[in-house]
Amino acid sequence: MALNKFYRFGMIAMVVFSTSVSFGQKAVKGYPVAERLASYKKISLKTDTALLSEAERKCLVHLIKAAQKVDEIFWKQAFKEKSKALEGIKNDTLRRFVEINYGPWDRLNDDKPFLQGYGSKPKGGNFYPENFDINTVPPNFRQRLMLPYSIVKPLTKADLMPPPPPKKGEKPKMQEMPMMMERFPLTNGNEIGLVDYSTLYEKDIQLILQEMMKASAAIEKEDKLFSIYLRERAMSITSNQYIMSDIKWMTLKSHLDIVIGPIENYEDKLLGTKTSFEAYVLVRDREWGAKLEKYVSYLPELQANIPVEAAYKPEISNNTGVNQIDENGNIMPSGDMVDIQGYPPLQKPNASLSQLAVFDAVYYAGDCNAGSKTIAVNLPNDEVLQKYYGTRRSQLKNTMKAKFEEMVKPISLILVDPSQHKNILFDAFFANVMFHEVAHGLGVKNLVSDQNKTVREALGADYSAIEECKADVLGLYMVTQLFNKGELTGSLDDYYVTFVASVFRSVRFGAASAHGKANMITFNTLLNSGCIVAGKKGYTVNVVAMKSVIEKLAAELLHLQGDGDKSGVDKMLQERGIIKTSLQEDLAKLEKAKIPVDIIFDQGIDTLGLKAYDEAEKSKDKKEKK
Ligand SMILES: [Zn+2]
Repeated sequence: MALNKFYRFGMIAMVVFSTSVSFGQKAVKGYPVAERLASYKKISLKTDTALLSEAERKCLVHLIKAAQKVDEIFWKQAFKEKSKALEGIKNDTLRRFVEINYGPWDRLNDDKPFLQGYGSKPKGGNFYPENFDINTVPPNFRQRLMLPYSIVKPLTKADLMPPPPPKKGEKPKMQEMPMMMERFPLTNGNEIGLVDYSTLYEKDIQLILQEMMKASAAIEKEDKLFSIYLRERAMSITSNQYIMSDIKWMTLKSHLDIVIGPIENYEDKLLGTKTSFEAYVLVRDREWGAKLEKYVSYLPELQANIPVEAAYKPEISNNTGVNQIDENGNIMPSGDMVDIQGYPPLQKPNASLSQLAVFDAVYYAGDCNAGSKTIAVNLPNDEVLQKYYGTRRSQLKNTMKAKFEEMVKPISLILVDPSQHKNILFDAFFANVMFHEVAHGLGVKNLVSDQNKTVREALGADYSAIEECKADVLGLYMVTQLFNKGELTGSLDDYYVTFVASVFRSVRFGAASAHGKANMITFNTLLNSGCIVAGKKGYTVNVVAMKSVIEKLAAELLHLQGDGDKSGVDKMLQERGIIKTSLQEDLAKLEKAKIPVDIIFDQGIDTLGLKAYDEAEKSKDKKEKK
């Protein structure tokens, strides 16, 4: 709150606070920091490096270094520069807890502040000025201000003054130059600026660019398309233009991969549009990937079977076409173009680029490493790209397995009736998460009554929670359909009981996260309708009853989305997006049993045993400099 204001006047703040160690350097009295830190289980992120070629190992080292720079940017977005954030914190436990939360707010405990001197977390993070109100922006500027790759900035004195003239014979100093920004008048007489990420984080981005170029060079001979992608993605980050590299990324089937850039908007809790930097460095599991590929071909049929009126489930075309990719990784012209305002002219593919892929994650940085760790990602987020090109759904198998073993299973042993313990299985968990990702591709992206308006625009900050809930529920619906077709093995009870078990895991994230809210809606709906019944030895799942309730909830969510029904969403979140006392008591049992709330990672070049490659590179660099 007031704190940010002080820090904007850097020098003054330093004088005032250098004598005081209690400000932002000690834990809030009574806050159980040690206990909270202990509630995270540390997992080593590894993969079978014996399966990697020499070139891939070198490439991987640079991808990890690029990801580490991305992490630095996310610190600035979520709180402040990492070194400044940790400055003066002497207690190691506290320091580590600030690190895993990327700031002084406990992400998995409703963002409660745990460092002295901090109030509640600003909803708009560092994306907007303090107390920013979009209603003070003239309507014709609003869309521009809500662009995903820029921040809205209050104008400071320095911004308003012309740059000082350089002294004779001296080059102008970058830090004295006012930042390049667009300026907008507000209806309250003030003015604000809009600064692109590429300008704002220029130094970090230059370092990312260097590492991406080195990674690209390392892999060029072995995997040309991946090498080209890495270069183009680096250019995206420097230009804030992500469309073309996103498309190229979707055509890739490379062994190594990196998801990198400003991607999700969970951190912008004010308007839900500004994106946060993150990176996942990945190694593809080709064997598992092949098993899953066939499910993509079921999408049209599954969409057609969703229990809602036709308008809420537009036909997904059955893709029989084949895309020709040229030697630069571009899709060869099919003749049809996608012509949408605000987008470059895009080649319409002959076939969807949708992929279901399985990876081992070897490095998490930024947004995806903050709060609960992602186990599956569905990208890109751009609705136009999703509509014309499809999405890639990536399952991060090593992280999933860790979460299942460390959390889902032990939680189930406490909260689920012993008669159903046999149904809690990793294969069912894997399938549920996978179909959650597929289900993001089902339903509508635009309003039924207004094709020019996206559901995201209509629902604003609550969009994510409803979309996550839809994906959970429709995912289970799809499991049911495929099971009935004989495409899935085991018993249907496995999938349903494991689903409920993982709801228990996710509600522990609290109502601060989109996934937490989504799981509360599901949990309360199932409880209210008697599909899960609390007993002395735990909850029992009534699979037969649950099947029809899941269908009804799916329809309810699809209607809310298709109608862009914001007041309906508010009502649903107020009534069902909350944790009630009986559940709170159950969750307390998990605290008592010391079951981890989430995992944190031991990760990086050393963890993968690639230190030798890093050192070889470093000595090469030194020689070149000489
Ligand atoms: Zn999701």
